Amino acid sequence: MSKFSSFNFSGKKALIRVDFNVPLDKATYAITDDTRIRAAIPTVKKILADGGSVILMSHMGRPKEGPEEKSSLKHLIAHLEQSIGVKVLFANDCIGSEAYQLSASLKGGQVLLLENLRFYKEEEKGDEAFAEKLSKHGDVYVNDAFGTAHRAHASTAVIAKYFSTENKMFGLLMEGEVAAGEKVLLNAQKPFTAIIGGAKVSDKILIIENLLDRATDIIIGGGMAYTFWKALGKNIGNSLCEEDRLALALEILEKAKAKGVNIHLPIDSTIADKFAADAQTDHCESGNIPSGWMGLDIGKQAIADFKSVILNSKTILWNGPMGVFEMEKFQEGTKAIALTVAEATSNGAYSLVGGGDSVAAVNMFHLADKVSYVSTGGGAMLEFFEGKTLPGIAAIQKL
Ligand code: AMP
Repeated sequence: MSKFSSFNFSGKKALIRVDFNVPLDKATYAITDDTRIRAAIPTVKKILADGGSVILMSHMGRPKEGPEEKSSLKHLIAHLEQSIGVKVLFANDCIGSEAYQLSASLKGGQVLLLENLRFYKEEEKGDEAFAEKLSKHGDVYVNDAFGTAHRAHASTAVIAKYFSTENKMFGLLMEGEVAAGEKVLLNAQKPFTAIIGGAKVSDKILIIENLLDRATDIIIGGGMAYTFWKALGKNIGNSLCEEDRLALALEILEKAKAKGVNIHLPIDSTIADKFAADAQTDHCESGNIPSGWMGLDIGKQAIADFKSVILNSKTILWNGPMGVFEMEKFQEGTKAIALTVAEATSNGAYSLVGGGDSVAAVNMFHLADKVSYVSTGGGAMLEFFEGKTLPGIAAIQKL
């Protein structure tokens, strides 16, 4: 059993760093997507069920000069009360005597929400004195904010040093994210296929380089594939291309060859005469796109090629769409890949979908529960895949 699950929170005050940076309606401040709140609820409920009390702390938005109405966490109170099923107390300031009085008087089963941590500049600076002040709220520190695990902020990393080893731990969400990431990056069963898509090679280069030492197969789709075709001397018409990354693309292909990693590029494409939902479309080889036309999705042959690689895999990591899936005419490739990852999962493969738009894609096609794990952390999961040490993870694992 995990440290969190086996910990008895009875009589303890648990200070939980959550990621409640949810989008709010500009006029009414109603929550428009509560995914991040829902993700943290099991951790809160376990602590309350044990008879512990909960102090929730989070950031919201990017306030520049101290408190501001639109970034106040008070807008979350009613929604939280509904989600957790208990009254939620609120401290107008995350530190200071009033906040300490509230946390000190909490009884088992009660919940206190602290005001936005980023109303203090010290939060993002990773200020030690501020972290120590925050630490006074709890006996136990629980980090359940995977979405900010790549930041060395006061509440996400620095604070951990003010708790003894036995009194700091990941929450259930964070445990799940770390376990999923480690399963793929450190303990992948082979064949291990990474599907990398999205717009730019430059955004994904560190991930690809890290995967060259781990994956057996790397599928490259989306806009970034055309930079590879161009580097190979092909005609890509007006497709997305990073001219300054052509040499890098060739270098990746060479490195992959030397390491015995199979790189799969989309052999054909759905092409369009403009970047628009109502564009004229056609179909051709990805390396033979007429000028004036651009590749906006992988083609049928590419789908078939990628399918057979994916279905032959025991571990699958997917980051980035295969085309401009936001437009109906260019979503076939991404949808087919999503369905194939789901099929491979039902055949016994382990699949992790993470980082930005591929998560949006599996949600769009209602396949989130048909893959093994969907990460909630965009930037954090990307940095994890890049092989970086995330400060929020290191602060718990290594101290
Ligand atoms: P990323 O955030 O790097 O994963 O990129 C996701 C974005 O890449 C999405 O908004 C897609 O519309 C876009 N994209 C995918 N394929 C293409 C393509 N062939 N041409 C232009 N943009 C693309």
